[in-house]
Order: sequence, then structure tokens, then C-alpha cells
Amino acid sequence: MPTLVRAAAAAKLNLYLHALGRRDDGYHLLDSLVAFASPHDVVTVRESDGFSLEITGPFAAPLLAEDLSRNLVTRAARALAAALGRAPDVAVTLEKHLPVQGGIGGGSSDAAATLRALAALWGLDPDDPAPARVAPDLGADVPVCLFGRTAYFGGVGELVEQAPELPPGLSLVLVNPGVGLSTKDVFKARTGPWSQSGRLERAAREVGEFVAMLGARDNDLMAPAIALAPVVGQVIDALAATSGCHLARMSGSGSTCFGLYASRADADAAAKTLTAANPGWWVAAADFVRDVRDL
Ligand code: ATP
Repeated sequence: MPTLVRAAAAAKLNLYLHALGRRDDGYHLLDSLVAFASPHDVVTVRESDGFSLEITGPFAAPLLAEDLSRNLVTRAARALAAALGRAPDVAVTLEKHLPVQGGIGGGSSDAAATLRALAALWGLDPDDPAPARVAPDLGADVPVCLFGRTAYFGGVGELVEQAPELPPGLSLVLVNPGVGLSTKDVFKARTGPWSQSGRLERAAREVGEFVAMLGARDNDLMAPAIALAPVVGQVIDALAATSGCHLARMSGSGSTCFGLYASRADADAAAKTLTAANPGWWVAAADFVRDVRDL
């Protein structure tokens, strides 16, 4: 059995996000096409005498200011250990590269990576149901992050279904303006009628066709996010103005937005332009990943 396991926690993108309704308990019923991109946090787990969590990396500070026992990495480790009837005797390191409260599922992706890493460290059979069983209680995005491939996300996050492959060449630029948005506040600010399901009728063969399909869909949380943080609207405008940008949209409940490009060269050029004009923004050119386990 390995004594150290590393797992990547990839950025999660909501390529479209429709709010279909609200349950009596207040949770929103969602329909989303979720994909994963190359920027990622790294979770490393090692056998140890007790549990510990160390956080490093460019976005460690906001998490170090919080109670580490509430961090999703800690909660995931303790939940999986409890489900397996064992002690969470692991030393975990989280390298935090993704902006916090950014709508790209940083915490959820970290929780899923922790479950994956511990499953390997503890020698679980790939069919062992324990990681998938504990995932929903850790957060709505944790099941889809555990799945780790392009997927439809439904219900309150408990429905995860493989989605068609993305078209070849599709690249992106991620931009976060340095403003965190609370998921709860953005949902509260949403108004207007509920949307219909936006599932794609078929796989798109090329970027133009895919972008046309996405353009007929929306992120229903983008307008309320812009109302709460107008800078998100500036990010969308700046992305849309870059050469080769086919679509600019917010992910999740914000504040991170993404632009879609037909080649990595276009995405790199756009990222360079955006960085030069907006030194305070987090800007990353990226590729989509077929499976987060490949990172
Ligand atoms: P989502 O897209 O899943 O709605 P998000 O990207 O908007 O999530 P996160 O970066 O996951 O937001 O952070 C939301 C809050 O979760 C943070 O403000 C923080 O208090 C808490 N949190 C707990 N553990 C983590 C973690 N490992 N990384 C980031 N945030 C965490």
C-alpha cells in the first residue's frame, strides 16, 4: 500500500447553470453542464499518528484565517474515516492555487480529492461505495467533483450523469476579480421565472457548434451576482472583448468568469492582454481535462 498519495483538485466550471425551482427546505433544484479545467489545488495525504492539515500556496491565507476543523479537507477525511470505522490518522497538505469563494468549486474539489487520495492510501477497492456515500453531505458540488469528468449536475447535486465529450481544441481563460461571493447570498438575490432543463441534444463536433449550443443557455446566477458585485460585469465585458473569445460567462455563483476560445494559443494571448490591463485580477489560460485523475 502507498504511504503517500497526491490528488489534484481541479477547477470546476459550470458551462451553463439553470435554476429549475426551489424545494420546500429552500435548496434550489439545478441543472448544469459541469466540466473540469487544468488549474488545480493539490491534496497530499500521508500516514501519521493523528490528523493534521497544513495549507500552503497563493490562496492559503483566507483558509488559514478560518477554523481548520471546518475546512472541507478535514471534514472529508473525518467523514470517510467514520464511514469505514477507522481513525483519520493522516497528515494532509493542501496546496491552494484556486481562488476561494470563486464559483469554481475549490472547497468541493478539495473534498473530492481528499476522498480519492484517502481511498488510495487506505487501499479501498475502486468499487467501494464509501467515498460516494459521504460526498453529498460534504456539499452539493462534491459528488460531481468526485466523478471528475464532464457531467450533468442535477437536483441539489446528488444527480451526476456523464455528459458528451467537449469538442477538440476548446480552451478557456479563467478570471477572478478578487471579490468573493457567498453562494447563499447570490441564490437569495435571484429573481424571475424558473428555467427549463438545458441538456444538450447531442455532442458538438466542433467549437463553433458547441458555443452556439451554450449561447442558447445561461447561467441564471450571473445577473444576481453582478447586482451584488458589479465588477463581475466588468470581467465579462473584458473577456468578451478579447480576440477569439466565443463566449464569456460566470461559473457557479461567481465571482470567477470564463471565456471560451478555439485554441490554447488564442486563450494564452487573451490571458496576456487581460493580465496587462488588470494587474489585480487572477487570470489563467487553461485546458479542459477529460478526467481529473489525469492531472
Ligand atoms: P462552489 O462553486 O462549490 O459553490 P465556491 O468556489 O464558490 O464553491 P469555495 O472556494 O469552495 O467556493 O469556498 C466557499 C467557502 O468554503 C469558503 O469561503 C470557505 O469558508 C469554505 N471552505 C472550506 N474548506 C475550503 C477549501 N478547502 N477551499 C476553499 N474553501 C473552503
